[in-house]
Amino acid sequence: MSQSAQTITVIRGDGIGPEIMDATIDVLNHLNDQHQLGLAYDFQLAGLEAIEQTGDLLPEATLASIDHNKVCLKAPLTTPVGGGFKSLNVALRSHFDLYANVRPAISFEGSRSRYHGIDLITVRENTEGAYLAEGACTAADGSRAESKMIATRAGCERIVRYAFDLAKRCGRKKVTVVHKANILKDVTGLFLRVAHEVAQDYPDIECQDMIVDNTAMQLVMRPEQFDVIVTTNLFGDIISDLCAGLVGGLGLAPGANIGASHAMFEAVHGSAPDIAGQGIANPCALLLATAQMLEHLDHHAAAKQLRGAIADAIAAGDRTTPDLGGQGTTAGFAQAIIERLA
Ligand code: ATP
Repeated sequence: MSQSAQTITVIRGDGIGPEIMDATIDVLNHLNDQHQLGLAYDFQLAGLEAIEQTGDLLPEATLASIDHNKVCLKAPLTTPVGGGFKSLNVALRSHFDLYANVRPAISFEGSRSRYHGIDLITVRENTEGAYLAEGACTAADGSRAESKMIATRAGCERIVRYAFDLAKRCGRKKVTVVHKANILKDVTGLFLRVAHEVAQDYPDIECQDMIVDNTAMQLVMRPEQFDVIVTTNLFGDIISDLCAGLVGGLGLAPGANIGASHAMFEAVHGSAPDIAGQGIANPCALLLATAQMLEHLDHHAAAKQLRGAIADAIAAGDRTTPDLGGQGTTAGFAQAIIERLA
């Protein structure tokens, strides 16, 4: 039966963005018809294309569309270097208060994953901490630079609660709280203290804490010990890329940015200018983000089918892109995935 209509704001992005978004929409159209999901798209501009067409990197119309639709599927954007431009991703996350950045890392059979059987999720705080570089400035003579690192109890509490709720919802057994409270005693100390308080409300889920440098080593040596990781903004940025590396690179790394009322789904990677326009970018990260979006919209069967089709196509090496060791194209790989949705 056809489900009630949901319009998604779609941003095709820069560099490889339009290539992987077109492939993703082809796949999503197929699922939309098959499951009668009632999805419609509102294409909006952001990034370099937006500045060329409207003079604005992040046009009001784009913000209004996301605000109205509540759900956005976004390809990578390029923020121009210099000129005082703030990162577009940071701007979008803070505008809609998308506080939870959820980045799963799954090892797919047939990929260049360094490990088998990895299935872990990094939950990164998205709205505060050192990553925001608040009050950043450099002395005129270049001899000194500074920026603030701020954590709030409310910010720590909502991200840790999000991670435990996610663990509970997905039947996960353990949450690892990653911090540096031995050195950054106040800011990440607050994060750790609040995490232990929140963990009391989830007696069925093991709560472990781990210092960030040890976490980096443990992830490389024994990644299977991790289930859900929750951490602050800057550590999450680094740890989640490390996790992407464990499972075969950025081409397989999706991310969801979730707030109380809005959500944005994206590939973790950037606009990859080195391969843009060649039709060889791997669309899987954006497709896996699409699976996260489908789950967010309660289309669980369609999400599961999409993940299965991606896994099958990778395992078969069917038209896979060069980053996965194949010789396929973005569009051809999407077609191989569509054939497995049938
Ligand atoms: P940006 O500044 O937009 O983040 P970047 O080049 O610093 O761009 P990425 O765009 O993430 O960072 O690219 C890092 C490397 O990974 C590049 O060599 C790029 O070609 C490769 N890469 C990123 N995404 C993909 C993809 N979807 N498929 C294949 N290779 C990719």
